[in-house]
Formats: sequence, C-alpha cells, structure tokens
Amino acid sequence: MYASRYPVISMEEAWEQVAAAIHRLPIVTRPLDALLGHVLAEDVTASENMPPFPASAMDGYAVVAADQAEERLVIGEQDAGLRQPFHVQPGTAVRIMTGAPLPDGADAVVPFEQATERDGHVRVPATVAAGAYVRPAGQDIAVGNLVLAAGTLLGAPEIGLLATVGRTEALVYSQPTVAVIATGDELVSPGQTPGPGQIRDSNSYALAAAVRTLGYPALRIGPVPDTEQALREAIREAAAQADMVLTSGGVSMGTRDLIKPILEELGTVHFGRVAIKPGKPLTFATLQGVPMFGLPGFPVSSLVCFEMFVRPALRLMAGYRRIWRPEQRVRLSHAVRHTPDRAEFQRAVVTQRDGEYWAETTGNQVSGRLLSLVGANALLKIPAGVDDVAAGESVIAILIDQPEAG
Ligand code: AMP
Ligand code: MG
Repeated sequence: MYASRYPVISMEEAWEQVAAAIHRLPIVTRPLDALLGHVLAEDVTASENMPPFPASAMDGYAVVAADQAEERLVIGEQDAGLRQPFHVQPGTAVRIMTGAPLPDGADAVVPFEQATERDGHVRVPATVAAGAYVRPAGQDIAVGNLVLAAGTLLGAPEIGLLATVGRTEALVYSQPTVAVIATGDELVSPGQTPGPGQIRDSNSYALAAAVRTLGYPALRIGPVPDTEQALREAIREAAAQADMVLTSGGVSMGTRDLIKPILEELGTVHFGRVAIKPGKPLTFATLQGVPMFGLPGFPVSSLVCFEMFVRPALRLMAGYRRIWRPEQRVRLSHAVRHTPDRAEFQRAVVTQRDGEYWAETTGNQVSGRLLSLVGANALLKIPAGVDDVAAGESVIAILIDQPEAG
C-alpha cells in the first residue's frame, strides 16, 4: 500500500491556508459600459443633489397651494428641460410636465387628472397640500451622501447611480481569468465515441461553467494525458495566462496521479488532503503567486470542491466582502448514513413546509454521480465526529442557490 506524504487537514485549516495565499486582483479604472459584474473598489459620494432642483412628479399644473381662487389663469407651460422665467402668484398656474423644474412662487402640483382647463383657466380641488407632487431638490440623493460603498457588486441599479452622479468610470477590482485543465489518459472529448476503457471529459466543461456562473472568463484546456511532460507543460502555460488554475483528476493515490509531484516542482503545495467527503485528495498550491487547485477527478467531487473552496477564493480575488453562502438549519426527511472520519457534503433539495425547512437528499451520493447535483439547492453538512443521522434530526444546509450573504 502507498502512503501519502500529505496529512489530512480539517476543512477550516485548509480554508485558512487558501485565504492566506489569495490576494485581491489589481484595481483598475473601467468605463460605465464595462462595469457590470465588477466589485467597486472606491466609495462613491454625490457632489450634487438629485433631483438638482424642485421638480414636478406629475404632468399637471404648478400652483400656490394656499391660493383660494376658484379658477386660475394659466400663464404658460413649463416642459422638462429648459427652465422658463415664470412666476406663479395667487390666481395663476403654469402647466407643467413630469421632471420639469417647479416655477418660482409655486409650491405644489395638481395632476391633470384632478384639474379641468377651459378657455385658458384651470379649476383645481378646493384644498391643495403644499409640496404635493413636488420632488424636493436632493430627495433621491443629497450632496455628500455615500451613494455606493467599496465592496459593492455593480449591477443595474448601481451602474445607474454612477451615471446619475456624473461618473463616466469607476475603480473596480479586476476579474479573475481561470484556466481549467482536464487530466487523464482515459478521457476523450464529448464529441468522440469512447474506446475500450475510455470515458468522456465532463469536468472541464462543468468547471468552466461554474467559473462562468460567477461572470468570469474560463479557458478550457485538455484533456491532457497522464504524462509528466504533458501535465507540466499544460500547468505552466495555464499559470502564465490565468489568474487561477484548476486541474481535475490526478491527485489521488494511483501511480498515474502526477499532479502533486509536478506542483511541488513548479511551486509550493500548501495542502494535499482535506477531511471532506467528497474531495479528500483536494490539493492547493501556488505557482509564482498564481493560486492553483488540484481538484479530484470524480465529477461530483470536483464541483463540490469548487463550491466550497474555489468559488469563495475567486470572490476574494474579485474584491467581494461576502464570500459564503447562507446556511439554514434543516430537518432530515429520512435517515442519512455517515462515517465520522470526515465532514460530508450531501446534495439535497431543501423545501419549506409548515414554517420548517426539510431536506431530502438527491438519491445515491457516490462521487461519480453528477445526477446527484442536478436540481440540488443545498449541500447538507454532516460534520466530522458524527455518526448516522436519524430522520427528523436537524443538520446545517448550505444553500447553494442563494447569493453569498456572509
Ligand atoms: P483520478 O483522480 O484521476 O483517478 O480520477 C478519479 C475518477 O474521476 C476516475 O474515475 C476518472 O475517470 C474520473 N475523471 C477524471 N477526470 C474526469 C473528467 N475530466 N471528466 C469526467 N470524469 C473524470
Ligand atoms: Mg486520472
């Protein structure tokens, strides 16, 4: 029997080592149209009010609220855009459009729906509240307001706000480019018919998709055969092009599992085994500062390790402050078998019933069965040190369909 030279460390210890080796990517200036999906690297404050002037919130008439006149002379029209030199006094009104500046003297707007205009005069309701349908200057944003804080993910409203305060560009963290290498002599591409002993490469596609789900570019490489030279070349090239490298396969105990020795040669291996199921052979290294995960070959193992390690690491690089999915205590609909030697992540569907959360695992949980991830919205965490868990007992579920909250 072969012995591994790598101690099996806890998941927490493994994450600490990843976090210590990961750095935020450089801050860059990007134009408004290219900001989507980036994390803001500066605080943005408003230097102007929004709206910049008292503005009408409706199409209608600008009036003096306290005016008691039954009919008011319409002295003109104020459209959105150029401000007209009107002065509204008791007995007069100005026709006004949504977004137009409120004329001097006026302090309220009566919507068209509540007014009748005939022969140049308008009738409005007997009582009009001062300030009605007027958006005061600075109602949306006041001068000096912190509009967006560093660390905010830029989506549609955030980009709209930047435009509102007059920003044409912003400082953001760069987004990581990730190289994904499939390794294994047995692998052929999906379009090929596997020969005897061969299977199709699914990991490079699944992992690239997992990277792209975060909005980051993925370079898919391979399948690379299990020879030292081919693997060394592929990894070296990938590390030169990408901000992070992922390999799948070649990290377990077989004689053709060559990734770890190659990483020792090219850089520093921080850990080579973790007490998790699936994913025990998970390996983490840095190659001249480029972080590199050696993910296990079994399709479920590689995706679960991606979720638990790679995704939070990528978010750290991209400047996010929140990197962890929300967790929820859930009750088990059925008993779950578990051996206490390591923490296990079982794929499950969590649903809410009568104010309680219930979890049902997605069938056979072997590490090769990708179908166990299809439709799963949670990973049930069965901690190390715990035996089988009975139906009705509760465990922690990591909600993998929810945005990171912590
Ligand atoms: P390994 O760790 O290289 O021994 O791989 C473990 C298992 O995962 C083996 O059954 C491999 O055939 C399988 N495997 C490795 N790489 C891939 C891949 N890219 N796509 C699908 N299965 C894979
Ligand atoms: Mg292999």
